[in-house]
Amino acid sequence: MNAHGPRVSSQQAGPRVVVVGSTNVDYVTRVARRPDVGETVAGEDLTVLPGGKGANQAVAAARSGAAVTFVGAVGDDVHGTMLLEALIRDGIDVTGVHRVPGASGSAVIVVGPDGDNSIIIIAGANAKVDDNLIMEESAQIGGASVCVLQGELSSAATTRAALSAAAAGVRVVLNLAPVIELPTEVLRVADPLVVNGHEAAHLLGLSAADVERDPGAAATRLHARGPLSVVITLGAEGSVVLDQDGVHSVPARVVDAVDSTGAGDAFVGALAESLAGNQALLSASTYATAYAALAVTRRGAQASYPTRFEAEEFVR
Ligand code: ADP
Repeated sequence: MNAHGPRVSSQQAGPRVVVVGSTNVDYVTRVARRPDVGETVAGEDLTVLPGGKGANQAVAAARSGAAVTFVGAVGDDVHGTMLLEALIRDGIDVTGVHRVPGASGSAVIVVGPDGDNSIIIIAGANAKVDDNLIMEESAQIGGASVCVLQGELSSAATTRAALSAAAAGVRVVLNLAPVIELPTEVLRVADPLVVNGHEAAHLLGLSAADVERDPGAAATRLHARGPLSVVITLGAEGSVVLDQDGVHSVPARVVDAVDSTGAGDAFVGALAESLAGNQALLSASTYATAYAALAVTRRGAQASYPTRFEAEEFVR
């Protein structure tokens, strides 16, 4: 099946990034208190927004200045149209987005009183991104400088995309969020593997506190699993970067944090754009840190993502 929307790649300038990933409709509600089992509580409001890790990262990369192509699937429901339109608004090439029968992916996000999230994901159309769809889009993947992957598609689709990118000489940025089982050969092409502290802990069988205590050691242990380089993001503590020169600590920007929803996606999208523009991993991470910091000063995920100009002005 073919995608809807105009082919915009020929008009795009900037480093080429392909994101193979999820798009979700986010249903976000705020509650004064989370319901216990069997209990009903009133939500303060309900907002319906475009989201999904893949789409968020694509938007962050596009606003950073990349020419972005998205490969994935949306349903043939009204939300599918909304999700496509959100990508198109940011100039993202959606010719690799397949419109499949049934519901689009969705996420129910409950925001508690202290801003903490509980999230339920319903894969919907994202579950229909399979080996065949990825193979159909191999030209889109092979034509980019950087291919960005997350953990919201199936392991089979993610594996196929990673190996097809690597075979075409495309740099693979693997954001293993959430953590899914992937073959070692996929980890070996990740450059970098990007995870947050919780995901790093999960992968290593440690507690999040262990990772926070010594994130450099955690990065070294993750590196031993095969990736060419590693980034562990640590919220307000910034990130650690492991490259060919060793482990580096990148402090977060000190900001008045308003909403950290989608901070990790902002970081990954900005990182991918910088890497596609031939920045070294450490300098790309420094840009991504500034980009994500500005995003956490604003509400929402995609809605909070700045342009490259804004991010650069912010740290000037
Ligand atoms: P995730 O959203 O996946 O949990 P993190 O919370 O680690 O990811 O955030 C990703 C990046 O966003 C961090 O490395 C940091 O650069 C930035 N960031 C997140 N929270 C804050 C904060 N409170 N202040 C400044 N920067 C932040």
